[in-house]
Amino acid sequence: MSREKVIMLADCQSFYASVEKMEHPEYKDLPLVVAGDPERRSGIILAACPIAKEYGVTTAERIGDALAKCPNLIIVKPRMQLYIDISMVITRIYESYTDLVEPYSIDEQFLDVTGSLHLYGSPEEMAHLIQKRVQLETGIYTRFGIAANKILAKTACDNYAKKNESGKFTLSPANIAETLWTLPIDKMFMVGSRMTRHFNAMGLDTIGKLAATPLEKFKLMMRRKMGKQSDISAELYWRIANGLDDSPVTPGTHQVAPKTVGHMMTLPRDYRKLDEIKVVLLELAELVCQRCRGKGYMGYVVTVGLMGADYDNSSGFNRQMKMDDPSNVTNQVYRAAVQLVSKHWEGHPVRKVGVSLSKLLPDDQYQTSLFDLDREKNMALEKATDALKRKYGDTIILRAASVSPAGQALHRAEKIGGHYK
Ligand SMILES: [Mg+2]
Repeated sequence: MSREKVIMLADCQSFYASVEKMEHPEYKDLPLVVAGDPERRSGIILAACPIAKEYGVTTAERIGDALAKCPNLIIVKPRMQLYIDISMVITRIYESYTDLVEPYSIDEQFLDVTGSLHLYGSPEEMAHLIQKRVQLETGIYTRFGIAANKILAKTACDNYAKKNESGKFTLSPANIAETLWTLPIDKMFMVGSRMTRHFNAMGLDTIGKLAATPLEKFKLMMRRKMGKQSDISAELYWRIANGLDDSPVTPGTHQVAPKTVGHMMTLPRDYRKLDEIKVVLLELAELVCQRCRGKGYMGYVVTVGLMGADYDNSSGFNRQMKMDDPSNVTNQVYRAAVQLVSKHWEGHPVRKVGVSLSKLLPDDQYQTSLFDLDREKNMALEKATDALKRKYGDTIILRAASVSPAGQALHRAEKIGGHYK
C-alpha cells in the first residue's frame, strides 16, 4: 500500500489588509479595509481586517455601506505589487520546509510535506512551526488545512481552520463523516450556485448525501438534469464528495516573466488618418493581449511605435505609458495606445506600427475581486474569444473595425505563414 500523503493548504488571513497594517503600524488596532476606489462611496472593498469584520464589514461590499456600519473605518488603496512581493516572501518560507509548494492564489499555497515531515514531528506540529515563522518574519497570520490530498486540505482550511483558535485543522478518514459529509453541498469544492441548485433539486443538500449515492445512480441523476455528456463531471463531483483526489502538488515554476510581448505590423501603404491608425492599434492590441492571456501574463506598461516609410529619415516615435493596474484586456491596452498616439503623433505618414506590453506579471496572482465587474466581464469574454479562435482560427471573430479597409487582421489571417504570430 502506498504511503498516505500529507498535504497542507496555507491561507493568509485578510491578506491585503494584514499587509497594510504591517506597513502602517499606527492602524494596528483600528478597523481597516483595502478598497478599489477609496475616494468614492461606491468603491468596492477588497479586503477587511478582523477588527473591521467585527463591525460587520465584509469583502465585496461598497465603501458607503461599510461606513454606515463603521464610521471610523480606515480605507486604503490596494498596492498589488507590494502584496505580490510579500506573497513571494511567504512562498520562500514554505519552500524552506518542502520543495513541493504550489501557489493557489496570491494568499493561498499548497504544501506537500510528505517527504520532510519526519524532521518536524506531527503534521500539526510542523504547521505550527511554519505558522509561527511566517508571523515572525512577515507579521501575517496563516491558517492551515491538513489532509491527504489538496481538495480535502482546502476544505479543512476554509471550513474549519479559519474558524479555529489554533488556525489549524486536520481532515482525515477518521473524522470525514462528522466534518466533510455534514457540510451543505455549496461548501463542496468546485460547486457554485448553479450546481448547488441542481444538487438541491436532486435532494442532495449535503456533501454526505452525494457521497453516499452509488456512482452509477448519481450518473443517471446527473444525465436527467444535464444531459448525456455529464458522466465525466458526475464522476468528478462524486470523487470530491468522497474525499478522493490524486492531483499532485505542482511547484510553481517561478519562471521569470518575459520582459515584453509585442507585435509590429508593416502597412500596405502610408496611413495618414488617425482613424485608420486606430484600427491597426486595435488589431495589434488584440494580438498582444491574446498572447499575454495565452501565456498567463498581464502588463503595466503600453508602448506604441509609429514609423514612416522613409526609414533613413526616421520620422516617428516610440512612447510608453504606465496603466494604473496591469492588464491583458484588449480594450484597456487599446485605449492606452490611442492615448499615446493622440498625444505624440504629429501627422507624419505611417508605414509601420508596433504595440507592446511590458512590466509583466503572472495574471493568476490577481484576485478577480480586485477588478470592477466590467473588467471581470471583459476578461471572461476575451478568454472565450481566445478559445474560439484557437478552435476555429483567427478570422472567426473579428472586431467590427477590422472589416474596414484599414483593417489588416482578415488579410493577415489569410496569409500563409504570416509574420505576426
Ligand atoms: Mg485569505
